[in-house]
Amino acid sequence: MGSATFDVVIIGAGIVGAACADELARRGMRVTVVDREMVGGGATAAGMGHIVVMDDSEAQFALTRYSQRLWQALRSELPDDVEYEQCGTVWVAADDEEMAEVRRKHEYYGSRGVPTQVLNARELKAVEPNLRDGMAGGLLVSEDVVLYPPCAARFLIERAQKHGAELRLGASVAKIGHGEVLLSDRATIGGKIIVNAAGAWAAALTPEVQIKKRKGHLVITDRYRGYLRHQLVELGYLKSAHSVTSDSVAFNVQPRRTGQILIGSSRQYGAEQKGADHKILRQMLLRAQKYMPGLGSMSAVRTWTGFRAATPDKLPLIGPWPGDDSLFLATGHEGLGITTSLATAKLLADQIIGSDPEIPIEPYLPARAAKECAHAE
Ligand SMILES: Cc1cc2nc3c(=O)[nH]c(=O)nc-3n(C[C@H](O)[C@H](O)[C@H](O)COP(=O)(O)OP(=O)(O)OC[C@H]3O[C@@H](n4cnc5c(N)ncnc54)[C@H](O)[C@@H]3O)c2cc1C
Repeated sequence: MGSATFDVVIIGAGIVGAACADELARRGMRVTVVDREMVGGGATAAGMGHIVVMDDSEAQFALTRYSQRLWQALRSELPDDVEYEQCGTVWVAADDEEMAEVRRKHEYYGSRGVPTQVLNARELKAVEPNLRDGMAGGLLVSEDVVLYPPCAARFLIERAQKHGAELRLGASVAKIGHGEVLLSDRATIGGKIIVNAAGAWAAALTPEVQIKKRKGHLVITDRYRGYLRHQLVELGYLKSAHSVTSDSVAFNVQPRRTGQILIGSSRQYGAEQKGADHKILRQMLLRAQKYMPGLGSMSAVRTWTGFRAATPDKLPLIGPWPGDDSLFLATGHEGLGITTSLATAKLLADQIIGSDPEIPIEPYLPARAAKECAHAE
């Protein structure tokens, strides 16, 4: 195969690459997407699909809320198999300390236009009767959504294709840069812009970028319709998700449209093998039963793992990579890439095309990571 020239070559057909392809193709660019596997087969197939507003930092809030609005706007176009359900999130407070966090979150979200409701212990039990007795309360965030990520990625790729984008599956990329993509079979693809959207594998193609794999486990149960109504996340999750050193598990359960319950979640650095780690799985399921004892008597039908792409400052990398005018990054989304894929695509396209972004882009620019690398040397 000879070299072809596109406006944009995107490496990775996960939800982020798919969203970027869709946005750029709809804005009139000649796009091709290259993936060594299938559409939505990486972390996108492993993710929970919780479209959630988060507030670890102002930048994280801005990106998650912007993207959630974009998902809301897309809702009417999504096919049924994307399983978009606005079930809402309940952040569960186990004690008074976590209730203080409920009130802080309520203030923070409320002052930024996100509707929330503080639930006392009785109200929490009324909305989720299968939680164990004795919880302090919770925060209901009604606009949060769940969806099925691989079908969302497929929808975005197909819409990109309708706008002229090409898709090359089964093509492994060996090297990128300076307007060229070199495939493992030595073929090349030329592009004015190359977008590294290779998720947890992005550093294999752009070695200076600091992305670490953060492994996660999930379990899905048989059908127990009506048992769970909202995505439930323990507020202790915030403590464990922030740990950058140790393995952690947290109670995080999701109702699927099928009546199944998706049980998460775990976080591990330095675990590169795909296989399930039974010690972590056990810890995760025991944690879940601590909050919902009835889960212990349910049957699980499948367990899987996936790799989040973690950056040192917990924000994604969206924009040009210093030192190579042709290279852009759209990666490093850790546990929020399903949520933030649509906003990532908008911000990336704004930078490539030169249009005004809806939110400030500075916190997500890869130049910050390049500076960190230079300081570390
Ligand atoms: C257990 C778990 C639960 C999660 N839950 C949620 C959640 O509820 N909500 C949320 O918002 N996010 C969640 N996430 C995070 C989310 O899944 C990811 O952030 C998101 O899927 C990243 O998408 P991506 O397109 O960047 O990467 P991926 O989906 O991993 O796609 C990258 C693609 O690049 C391809 N690729 C890589 N290297 C090459 C190469 N050299 N040549 C060709 N192709 C290549 C891969 O084959 C892959 O298809 C979760 C993640 C995990 C692991």
